[in-house]
Amino acid sequence: MTRTATIVLLLAIATSAAPARAQTPAPLTVGSVTASAGEKVSGYIEVPAGVDSATRIPVTVVRGARAGPTLALIAGTHGYETQPIIALQRVRRALDPAALAGTVVLVHIANPPSYFGRTIYYSPVDGKNLNRVYPGRADGTVSERIAFAITREVIEKADYIVDLHAGDGNESLRPYAYWTPLGGDARVDSLQREMILAFGHDLIVVDTTRPKDLASSVYTTNTALLLGKPAITTENGYLGESAEPMIRRNVDGVFRLMRWLRMVPGAVPMPRRVTWLHRFEVLRSPETGTWHPAVERAQMVREGALLGYLTDVFGDGRTDIRASFAGEVLYVVATPPMSRGEPLAMIGAPR
Ligand SMILES: [Zn+2]
Repeated sequence: MTRTATIVLLLAIATSAAPARAQTPAPLTVGSVTASAGEKVSGYIEVPAGVDSATRIPVTVVRGARAGPTLALIAGTHGYETQPIIALQRVRRALDPAALAGTVVLVHIANPPSYFGRTIYYSPVDGKNLNRVYPGRADGTVSERIAFAITREVIEKADYIVDLHAGDGNESLRPYAYWTPLGGDARVDSLQREMILAFGHDLIVVDTTRPKDLASSVYTTNTALLLGKPAITTENGYLGESAEPMIRRNVDGVFRLMRWLRMVPGAVPMPRRVTWLHRFEVLRSPETGTWHPAVERAQMVREGALLGYLTDVFGDGRTDIRASFAGEVLYVVATPPMSRGEPLAMIGAPR
């Protein structure tokens, strides 16, 4: 080896072994927000008017002083799932860009029409469920334009994504998460699983039926997975209340995940006992009327157990709804209004 070659080789080794802190991250732009290294900046992703009205999605970009992954945290995909929304306001305050490796993109309220309109499941503008219209379209209705904007501005710019859900305004829910391996990329499937455990979830629904076509990815998280990015959907909270333990659970999960990704220092103890729910069912209402639940969230039920009953709008008649297998009540609708085809409850079991 010539002396020049030796020097070049040594230089190459020195460069590759350089500590991450030597690199200063370039500025990152999300919507109207540009954050340079060491900055925390808030603003909006503008969703222009189209066939219906415009909206704007509040976002914060926390650009760490040191290099690291970009983690996107999305709250309020369903606008009345409030605990993750409050949690991200706290995460925004708590994050110190000077002490952060990498970048955190906080989507504070993904679905402002639903949040401010106080609607469950559906946008008050176009009647669509934001978590069923991904990857969205630039020329669609407002939910589709929001999905398009979040795909472009958030998912495509992130390395890891969390879509933070809760029981909706009508749903009494116990915490759980979804593992949705697509089978196409073992690395992504495995990292998704690890992220769920790092977040602290010990009750996990295994769903292998998610779409595998990016053009009709349907869900926020599924869009990210199909783009090769590990992503998880978490469920922590219920009934649209500012339930403090559930707000804290969301904040804790986010910081656990940031520690696991080595964006902030500290260890992450993984859950000791994890239950994987391979069998699950969302029971749907056979009629429109009034719902009387007979179970609570986290209740264990036997096969055939009464989950609740429906009456008509006059209070007459009675249709019993029963569990089709033994399992745990992951959520139950806890308020009376019920439309045909809508969820009544979700039951899960290991097998
Ligand atoms: Zn949701």
